[in-house]
Amino acid sequence: MKKTLIVATRNAHKAQEIAAILPPHFEVRTLADYPDAPEIEETGTTFAANAALKACGISALLPGLVLADDSGLCVDALDGAPGVMSARYAGEHGNDAANNARLLQELAGLPAPHSARFMCAMCVAEGGQVLAEFEGKVEGCITLSPAGEHGFGYDPLFVPAGYDCTMAQLSAEQKNSISHRANALQQLMDWFRTPASGTSA
Ligand code: IMP
Repeated sequence: MKKTLIVATRNAHKAQEIAAILPPHFEVRTLADYPDAPEIEETGTTFAANAALKACGISALLPGLVLADDSGLCVDALDGAPGVMSARYAGEHGNDAANNARLLQELAGLPAPHSARFMCAMCVAEGGQVLAEFEGKVEGCITLSPAGEHGFGYDPLFVPAGYDCTMAQLSAEQKNSISHRANALQQLMDWFRTPASGTSA
């Protein structure tokens, strides 16, 4: 039986990756299917706090299970920045080119390698209440030579550990097998199989 999951995002890239990673018996909806759903302000100081804000805020208004993904890039030499500011590092929300340019600017002159990780906090909520929370990550480093056309966001600057190419040079299938998002979704799928989830999905 199909299990409907409302993903509390208007980021088409994220939604596409989540839908591709989840098994086909999940029917993924997004806020594109609910144009009247409000924008939830991400006022938290951690990925987990923002994921919970989005999942609870949207599930208080829409029936069913809501999944929120709050994610971003943390660079050690920048004390974890851009972190929760990843989407708006250069000011304008979701301007990937400007965000990447600012990251390169911040790292210029700092000694390489620039160790970093993508983090993904996920929260499942229903009726405004948190049901479960997960955190996934993928380690790597930042290259100052952007490469690749796939993915989104900081993918052209991120070299996953064990690879000699950027995340944006991997196919969607390759990225979805190693990403922070895949890591968090694996935990979500494990949770769905436990009695605590109240479902057998
Ligand atoms: P959020 O929508 O507040 O969770 O912000 C997510 C931001 O983090 C995106 O706009 C990207 O800048 C960055 N980000 C998250 N996941 C990825 C990814 O898989 N690849 C590249 N950048 C990502």
